[in-house]
Amino acid sequence: MTPVSTFSGRRVALFGLGGSGLATARALHAGGAQVAAWDDSEAGRREARARGFDVVDLDDADWTQFDALVLSPGVPLTHPAPHWAVERARAAGIEVIGDIELFCRERQTLAGGALFIAITGTNGKSTTTALIAHILRQAGWDVQLGGNIGTPILDLAPPSEGRIHVIECSSFQIDLAPSLAPTIGVLINLTPDHLDRHGTMESYAAVKERLVERAEIALVSVDDPWCHAIGARLAAAERPGQQVIPVSAKRRLDWGYFIDGSLVMSKGYDLAPTEAEALGDLAGLDTLRGAHNAQNAAFACAAAWHCGLDGERIAAGLRTFPGLPHRLEEVGRRGRVRFINDSKATNADAAEKALLCFDDIYWIIGGRAKAGGIEPLRPHFFRIRKAYLIGEATEDFGRTLEGALPFERCGTLDAALARAARDAGASEAHEAVVLLSPACASYDQFANFEARGNAFRDLVSGLSAVAASLTGEQQ
Ligand code: ADP
Repeated sequence: MTPVSTFSGRRVALFGLGGSGLATARALHAGGAQVAAWDDSEAGRREARARGFDVVDLDDADWTQFDALVLSPGVPLTHPAPHWAVERARAAGIEVIGDIELFCRERQTLAGGALFIAITGTNGKSTTTALIAHILRQAGWDVQLGGNIGTPILDLAPPSEGRIHVIECSSFQIDLAPSLAPTIGVLINLTPDHLDRHGTMESYAAVKERLVERAEIALVSVDDPWCHAIGARLAAAERPGQQVIPVSAKRRLDWGYFIDGSLVMSKGYDLAPTEAEALGDLAGLDTLRGAHNAQNAAFACAAAWHCGLDGERIAAGLRTFPGLPHRLEEVGRRGRVRFINDSKATNADAAEKALLCFDDIYWIIGGRAKAGGIEPLRPHFFRIRKAYLIGEATEDFGRTLEGALPFERCGTLDAALARAARDAGASEAHEAVVLLSPACASYDQFANFEARGNAFRDLVSGLSAVAASLTGEQQ
């Protein structure tokens, strides 16, 4: 844990008692602050009381006693409308901040020079964050990995010289961290997302820009117009001590980091084109399949390089990356059939990334559909041998697939897997793939995408067990 000493002896209102809210309450308390915690949900309040926190109805409280409102990132700060707790804090003239801000202030107090890598973007944040952490750990660094992935930031060990924090940041967390100034800031990509919470694409992009704005080394994509504009603006500002470095997965750059075939390349500003250096090779790496992962890998290699790792150690880290669960995760093989769990693909955009990685696909799709359905995936239908529909989206998706692809209505995941495994096993393909990449939310049949992916993994192991027992019986 990182005790928060900067509010020692002061009184803080804390709103939002999910996982990161409770971690923040613990860290503030450990640092000597008095915390008045509250949540709109009774369950959150009960949990906080059970853990011994002072649960106070903030709606009824006298806000002049508080020095700050610490807000959970899930609570609206501006859109669609500021939460009532934010209104009350503003009326009382106190600051509204989040856990990343508390960490930044603690880092400044304890070890301002401690390495801190912050990662954001619309897609690929978790993969890039986990990959950077893995490469650095493999090279022997003391790495603290967390933020929007896994462990809340204040549950991590405190900043210190020789320790490196690798932190995934959502736009909501950045919005609550006015003094965010990482050693290395990573901005992977920007496409419209969360506009209900940010109002417009312009304000969403402006929030994301803040993560790289005060980074000592700003690694910024040049592959989409929003990031490109941010990189150009930062470069033009010529902030003293700041390097702004372009990264591309789409084209060779005169300088910066880019993908060339399967290679991640680095090229210094003043070097001849022939002097670009390969930092790693993605060929044959199943855990980093696809052009989207090449983008993530380019950023991870760049960040590791700026931490002082050489090409050999970076390449070794890439080769041993275990991948993240539920993202193109291979969960089994039977003969020439691979089983891939891509349950994290909860929309068509994400499912498209998976379809681009394979041929001869037996595709399990469905759940609770997002606006637009799977119509945007039509150009990739030629890769799919057959689709297996589950959940609420069945009739909607069936209409899109009618006449374009063979498909079956399966209802549930177990039925879909059994039929897809049967058909893939009977196919002549050199390598058939049973792919769960549902292009839908999971909530109609599962608690979340993790539960859906875990169910798929268990069902695939069950298939192998059935096959093994049948083989045994025949002998
Ligand atoms: P995030 O943490 O930003 O949600 P993840 O690393 O968890 O990102 O990946 C989630 C999904 O987003 C993946 O399953 C893939 O479909 C897609 N994705 C990952 N990286 C990228 C990228 N660089 N560009 C576009 N899409 C990506």
